[in-house]
Amino acid sequence: MQRLTAWISSRSLEIMGREADRLYPLETGGVLIGYWADDTNVVVTAEFGPGPAAIHKRYSYKHDHAWEAARVASEYERSERTHVYIGDWHTHPNASSGRLSGTDKRSLRTVLGSQEARLRRTLMVVLFGTSTEWQPDIWAAELGRASIWNWRRSLLIEPVLLRRYT
Ligand SMILES: [Zn+2]
Repeated sequence: MQRLTAWISSRSLEIMGREADRLYPLETGGVLIGYWADDTNVVVTAEFGPGPAAIHKRYSYKHDHAWEAARVASEYERSERTHVYIGDWHTHPNASSGRLSGTDKRSLRTVLGSQEARLRRTLMVVLFGTSTEWQPDIWAAELGRASIWNWRRSLLIEPVLLRRYT
């Protein structure tokens, strides 16, 4: 399979980094909006978060889903129905890598299984590191095919190459 590439603006990375700093050492995060340019390239056009009802803890973060859904809806309208929900972002303060936790994998499965999102693939950006020195790791997840041997569809996760645009 061809390597997936996510195009993210330097500005978006800066905004997420600033937000990560603001809540450090607690986790924070939000939602990613954009579009798949083709089968392997995804463009992040905007990032939002956290919402006012998000819950920030040292080792967990709970999204403010209602607030995020409202941002997604307004970007969808503003972009004339081309920019949609493509995934989430959150922080792992003081972590040495952006490795996904068990909770992260469960939430990917929830997103992919949700009827309203109807996504084949979803992104998860993890900013890891320490205050002012955040590094992004990006993952893409999709569900494998179900079979009579394997009724529970497997969660397929792969690393995504980050390309910055200005
Ligand atoms: Zn996480």
